[in-house]
Amino acid sequence: APPKECPPDVEELGRSSWTLLHSITATYPEAPTANDQSNVKQFLGLFGKLYPCWVCAEDFQVFMERNKVRAESRDEFGMWMCEAHNDVNRKLGKKEFDCAKWEERWRTGWKDGRCD
Ligand code: FAD
Repeated sequence: APPKECPPDVEELGRSSWTLLHSITATYPEAPTANDQSNVKQFLGLFGKLYPCWVCAEDFQVFMERNKVRAESRDEFGMWMCEAHNDVNRKLGKKEFDCAKWEERWRTGWKDGRCD
């Protein structure tokens, strides 16, 4: 029989959520309309309220209060998300990610061809 799957813990939920969030920045327009920008702000505002790890959600809301979402271009939004993720990385004692590489990780694939 196939192995039974379990409800996600905070780590699995986190990995899946970051995949979604960074992927949203990767497919965000280079030249977003006012509507595009309003949509991501609404989305993240609600995401911060609904994220099913309450301490995580609370800290994310505080981060967004202090660091307003910047989404006037794809790169700006990708960088903002990378900084939001690094804020959690620091809190958890994980290594910070080099935000100059956000697009290679989440949109184009690594320049050395690792994702081909
Ligand atoms: P993850 O941190 O999940 O990262 C996945 C992959 O993203 C990495 O392997 C790397 O390739 C890439 N990456 C890493 N950093 C960046 C970056 N800055 N920019 C772009 N790409 C990057 N967990 C808690 O225990 N407490 C919390 O309070 C908490 N808050 C969270 C808040 C939010 C909004 C989210 C989405 C998650 C939160 N988590 C929290 C989960 C936590 O961030 C991790 O997802 C989880 O610990 C699993 O970590 P991981 O080492 O597998 O890699």
